[in-house]
Amino acid sequence: MSVVGIDFGNLQSVIAVARNRGIDVICNEVSNRFTPSLVSFGPKQRYLGETAKTQEISNFKNTISSLKRIVGRTFADKEVQEIEKQYLTAPILDVNGQLSVKVNFKGEETTFTTVQIFAMYLTKMREIAASEIKMPVSDCVIAIPSWFTDVQRRAVLDASEIAGLNVLRLINDSTATALGYGITKTDLPEADKPRNVCFVDVGHSTYTVSIVSFIKGQLTVKARAFDKHFGGRDFDRMLVDHFAAEFKTKYGIDVKSNGKALIRLMAGCEKLKKILSANAQAPLNIESIMEDRDVASMMKRTEFEELAQELISRVEAPLQKVLEDSGLTIEDIDSVEMVGGSTRIPALKERIQAFFKKDLSSTLNQDEAIARGAALQCAMLSPTFKVREFSVQDITNYPIKMTWQPTPEEEETELVVFNKNNVIPSTKILTFYRSAPFDLEAQYAEPESIPAGINPWIARFSVKGVEPVNGEAACVKVKARVNIHGVLTVESAYVVEEVVKEELVEESKTETPAAEGEEAAAEAPLTRKVKKLVKKGDLTVVSATSSLDRSLVNELKEKEMEMIASDKLVVDTEMAKNTLEEYIYDTRSKVDGSLKDFINPADKEKFVSDLNNAENWLYEEGDETTKSVYAAKLAELHVVGKPVVERYREVEARANAARELRETI
Ligand code: ATP
Ligand code: MG
Repeated sequence: MSVVGIDFGNLQSVIAVARNRGIDVICNEVSNRFTPSLVSFGPKQRYLGETAKTQEISNFKNTISSLKRIVGRTFADKEVQEIEKQYLTAPILDVNGQLSVKVNFKGEETTFTTVQIFAMYLTKMREIAASEIKMPVSDCVIAIPSWFTDVQRRAVLDASEIAGLNVLRLINDSTATALGYGITKTDLPEADKPRNVCFVDVGHSTYTVSIVSFIKGQLTVKARAFDKHFGGRDFDRMLVDHFAAEFKTKYGIDVKSNGKALIRLMAGCEKLKKILSANAQAPLNIESIMEDRDVASMMKRTEFEELAQELISRVEAPLQKVLEDSGLTIEDIDSVEMVGGSTRIPALKERIQAFFKKDLSSTLNQDEAIARGAALQCAMLSPTFKVREFSVQDITNYPIKMTWQPTPEEEETELVVFNKNNVIPSTKILTFYRSAPFDLEAQYAEPESIPAGINPWIARFSVKGVEPVNGEAACVKVKARVNIHGVLTVESAYVVEEVVKEELVEESKTETPAAEGEEAAAEAPLTRKVKKLVKKGDLTVVSATSSLDRSLVNELKEKEMEMIASDKLVVDTEMAKNTLEEYIYDTRSKVDGSLKDFINPADKEKFVSDLNNAENWLYEEGDETTKSVYAAKLAELHVVGKPVVERYREVEARANAARELRETI
């Protein structure tokens, strides 16, 4: 069984696998340890990951980025409209309220939902992992931002299913990092003196900080805070604004008016930013950016830091918040661990260091820590692996409340069932007295704390089949759970009845001093009547959540498989064409060389002419045809060519054997 962990990053994703000797980060088809988080569409096929990166500029209108920011969101979502739209280069649209993209795919205008797009990317992740571990991949753990809400988590789960992945856990990314850190430490303290570690992750689009306390064999997330919109891309955008203004005055061009030019400037700015992390100054040169103009500029690190002052100061608020929520002080933090690409920015590091007044550690691989932790979690959950016992106590981010229609006797109409920082997974049992079926509505209790634009509504749970018991309202227990993915479910509901039972009373508990003159209780054992709750049959719960209907998931899965097959056919066709082309060139050069003596001259003339004709055909009507036609053409040439090559090989083999014989005697 596969044991795979995926760090689903906004810019790039990392895959790790567990093997008997440990966790390995694996390489993709071009030997990179991270894969661009991009999906692109062309006239013949989809491009996923690395191949989509090559389309990013030339085919930007059909290339989708920011996959993790858009998955499961609605079109009208404030954050989508105000923020994500700036980073998306393909047109977006509303399909039944769902955010979708419009692309030109195989020559036709096609729309896909964000869940479908994400599933396509996961297909690529699955294929990369499968080709590395040489077996089909299904079980995996996917790391997601801890600030993902129920709807986003369910969207990722739906997309995974469409892509043929079985997610054992959606793990909060900062928790995956903490797990990777903790499990390798052999010197963790006993329970009375936990080690408190602060993990800081500044990535491409988001910034998360968590305080985790470690003891032997266990991690407990104490608190977590984030700035959902803070990361490398904000620095890039700041630089784009700066240089776009400069080029307007210097060259008289408006880069922002030209989609392609803007993407190229963005890429140039990212490069410049990275250079500035290690150098005092960096150049920016883009040839023929637009209107045939080359642009050139440079920036000093001091200038960058000045421009980024406001951005950099934003790093502090989440640090304050996480400390506050954890109830710890700076002195209680034993170490500060940095992960994520943007923590390489020196000014950012300095600011974090100044806040904690201590050196920052980098014992973790900042680019791979999350994927490693996710793979470890997968190994822990997989029955095929034995991993050292390590308990992971994670927490929820947002309080969840349930509301209901009250009965005349009831005053309460809502209850916060899971508080912020409630341990996950976790189950709560709610009690209702009802004579008829009823509904529970679940929603986030503090809508202002969830990502702006996401509906705080989570789900409706309808408890069916409730009826009075002995003429009175039934006592109904409802089992609500925030599961291992951080998703709210109602697993079951059942009726309990009070039954009166006689129970033996233990002597020690009944020793009330006998009143004077009174005789001690009779010899017979003492009993008392107690009321006990007894479970009386399960009730059906119908859940209306944001997950896609089963039938739709199956339909989309089918579609995804069709697209996989169609992409594969394109690749196979290309290969068949290349094989034919190579055969023509290779054989033609040999018929006058090594194969010369093995073909009779009359045949040769015809064969060369056949090869020439096949070459011409390849440039003309054979330029674009099907795999089977290329294969048939090759088979035609083989009719003459194969026996020639066989004769040649036979003679070669005989000569080799004779040589070997000579050498041995
Ligand atoms: P997210 O965590 O937001 O989903 P991600 O996981 O894809 O995104 P990372 O791989 O952690 O992001 O980091 C990528 C970001 O780090 C990019 O914005 C990149 O420009 C930035 N980055 C990488 N190296 C450097 C560097 N040397 N100096 C400054 N920034 C860097
Ligand atoms: Mg990341």
